[in-house]
Amino acid sequence: MLGLMQNQALTISSLIEFADRHHGEGEIVSRRVEGDIHRHTYKQAASRSRQLANALDALHLQPGERVASIAWNGYRHLEMYFGVSGSGRVLHTINPRMHPEQIAWVMHHAQDQVVCFDMTFLPIAKAIHSKCPSVKHWVALCDADKLPADTGIPNLQSYEALLAVQPTTYAWPDLDENTASSMCYTSGTTGNPKAVLYSHRSTVLHAYAAALPDVMCISARDAILPVVPMFHVNAWGIPYSAALTGCKLVFPGPGMDGKSVYDLIELEKVTYAAGVPTVWQMLLSHMQANNLTFSSLKRTVIGGSACPPAMIAAFNDLYGVEVLHAWGMTEMSPLGTLCTLKNKHLSMSDAHKVKVHLKQGRALYGIDMKIVDGEGDELPWDGRSCGDLLVKGPWVLREYFKGEGDTQTVMPLIDGWFPTGDVASIDADGYMQITDRSKDLIKSGGEWISSIDIENIAVAHPAIAMAACIGMKHPKWDERPIVAVVKKPGAECTREELLAFYAGKAAKWQVPDDVFFMEAIPMGATGKMQKSKLRELLKDYVLP
Ligand code: ADP
Repeated sequence: MLGLMQNQALTISSLIEFADRHHGEGEIVSRRVEGDIHRHTYKQAASRSRQLANALDALHLQPGERVASIAWNGYRHLEMYFGVSGSGRVLHTINPRMHPEQIAWVMHHAQDQVVCFDMTFLPIAKAIHSKCPSVKHWVALCDADKLPADTGIPNLQSYEALLAVQPTTYAWPDLDENTASSMCYTSGTTGNPKAVLYSHRSTVLHAYAAALPDVMCISARDAILPVVPMFHVNAWGIPYSAALTGCKLVFPGPGMDGKSVYDLIELEKVTYAAGVPTVWQMLLSHMQANNLTFSSLKRTVIGGSACPPAMIAAFNDLYGVEVLHAWGMTEMSPLGTLCTLKNKHLSMSDAHKVKVHLKQGRALYGIDMKIVDGEGDELPWDGRSCGDLLVKGPWVLREYFKGEGDTQTVMPLIDGWFPTGDVASIDADGYMQITDRSKDLIKSGGEWISSIDIENIAVAHPAIAMAACIGMKHPKWDERPIVAVVKKPGAECTREELLAFYAGKAAKWQVPDDVFFMEAIPMGATGKMQKSKLRELLKDYVLP
């Protein structure tokens, strides 16, 4: 017997229509490439999303065809999230930090028909347009009178001019909720990038889950600053959860440095911010150097790489900001786990709570996870056993776009589970802790060393801002860890001092064999440390 409830598809257009109707006055504030602060509301965002949908119809774009964005976090990019996907096309968010050749490669692979770019990225568009035969329309995200002449880009149009002639009403198509909505290429540290193709259903379910109190806890009373880019797994889904809750949205545009982020938090009374650890490192350095405090910020979600305990402590103890440590991946839309306490923890000591907070957290509803040994047998949830982490759920990838990938990943699932490539333990309460990416684990004398543990200790040293630990080939021990570090501005620390700092914090055999002081650690396109680059830089190094 079937239930007798209305069968309404979960579509992305319904999110912006909801925001328009129920949170029409909700604010959307953006720092623009133009340098000013732009303000409007969900009502205006909805109208302009419909104008964009009309404009895509006028360009004769077919359902399912791809529209690419090369853009910062801002209101125009937000309209693309709703106007492109809502009208049945697929939004391809491109990471501008990729090499232009790689950008041309993903555009060709995705067969993008339209590309909309912020003016910052005009040089990229100029460099690659002749290599992108699928692209019929190049659109600059600017006013008509700001459109540059003589770019060499054929038919370059202004986004505002495209929208201006369109009506603000639109009949969103009645899509099957499994229709593709957006796509995001993984960074491709091994081989060519592979695309994850999200659906309306996976996106809306993820948006619901992300907003829950034990997940990102997003409400109409929040002012949220997603520093995590909208070209990086849909800014962790925050734009969709924002429309679903009607929270104020604050977009940083190109200003991701400590000062710009801090100023915007204070100016717009941001209550909640989200980003990768490197962004928060820049913010904390700026605040410490200038003796600043927050007047409104209450919570911050930190994920994408392991959040060092020293960072959690700085936010908590110095600034009274709660840190929500999150784990996920592009293939998971991205949320998998978030670290919030259970009722039983509330009566425990602060020291115990801190221990829990250092973990990547527990699965949210919609994600199931397990750890397995080398034979694929499930390991116990005892907080000690470490194994390969596998996940499944309605917003986890089933297959890459075009069945792409190496032979192991063409059909990436193992009995319906997606292997994350992470090694983790899970404790009896269901809290998962990442030991490492499996490829970053260091094998020394038959024992595994977690590079994350070694990095966390280094950045707990008052003079160290960033640390990356990698394994070096060793004739006797197979591999030995070394740590590359960046000092805080003006701080001093010697190799011997840092190595001595490990005493009592790690077993003797886990202490790195050497320390490299660097000006900067190589960073990848998604703001994560690029250990492959570091290995390359140090390839001629010989252990002491
Ligand atoms: P995202 O694009 O969301 O950063 P990627 O697909 O680029 O995701 O990378 C996902 C990987 O990043 C994970 O498999 C894991 O290795 C790492 N990662 C993400 N969050 C964390 C975290 N909180 N702690 C440790 N590693 C993390």
